[in-house]
Amino acid sequence: ALAGKTALVTGSTSGIGLGIALALARQGARLILNGFGDTEGPVAQVKAAGSPQVGFHGADMSNPAAIAALMAYADAEFGGVDVLVNNAGIQHVAPVQDFPPERWDAVIAINLSSAFHTTRLALPGMLAKGWGRIINLASVHGLVASANKSAYVAAKHGLVGLTKAVALETATSPVTVNAICPGWVLTPLVQKQVDARAAAEGVDNAEATRRLLGEKQPSLAFTTPEQLGELTVFLCSDAASNVRGQAWSLDGGWTAQ
Ligand code: NAD
Repeated sequence: ALAGKTALVTGSTSGIGLGIALALARQGARLILNGFGDTEGPVAQVKAAGSPQVGFHGADMSNPAAIAALMAYADAEFGGVDVLVNNAGIQHVAPVQDFPPERWDAVIAINLSSAFHTTRLALPGMLAKGWGRIINLASVHGLVASANKSAYVAAKHGLVGLTKAVALETATSPVTVNAICPGWVLTPLVQKQVDARAAAEGVDNAEATRRLLGEKQPSLAFTTPEQLGELTVFLCSDAASNVRGQAWSLDGGWTAQ
């Protein structure tokens, strides 16, 4: 269904971004991957999932000049971006009075400002071509807060706000802009928090996982990268062409409480 379209998924060498890239590849989209760490494995997986053309650009999404280079690469090698998935993100957990200012700046830059830069650079091409989808990976923390995550909660609330503003600016156009708000997903980002909990509470991995889910996620089950990939595919479909400016939760009931 996405044959002939090009999707850029930031932070797609791991976790949710890779799950979304694989789902878009199964729909026949061409893919531009981005992120740190192993790149050959993700590129091979996305090709094997059915993507006819897979590129990679290692832009550091905290750096506006690097983001501009990534978007120029997308224009030169793929003729622009039709589906933009702003997914790159980091976490830092500390009470606000102990929060290192440079960590605050990094979380805001990667989790929020990067989406502004990719959006402002991708949108003119989408409007010119007459079709586009911008999907921002926010979080339940774009809607509600948790203690010790001030930068992350501020960035994700900001990302939901950016989503709404750009959705209104494009409301009469064939470009839709939405956010996805996952609850807990078992990725390296969350495994670090399970490990910290196991160490702090003197329990094993399984018990720390149970406690983590039990505290916030009523289903007691993780949301999966595959489920987030399928929601992204739906938001790219014609059926979703009038879904605009939404913050769509996939959170096992977290924000129903
Ligand atoms: P992850 O750590 O598994 O993957 C993050 C990806 O971003 C990796 O590919 C990493 O290389 C990349 N990345 C990190 N910093 C980068 C930078 N400066 N420049 C370019 N790429 C960079 O994390 P994840 O859990 O898959 O998270 C993906 C997104 O989903 C994030 O925005 C996160 O906030 C959001 N999210 C995650 C959860 C969860 O429970 N895991 C829940 C809600 C929202």
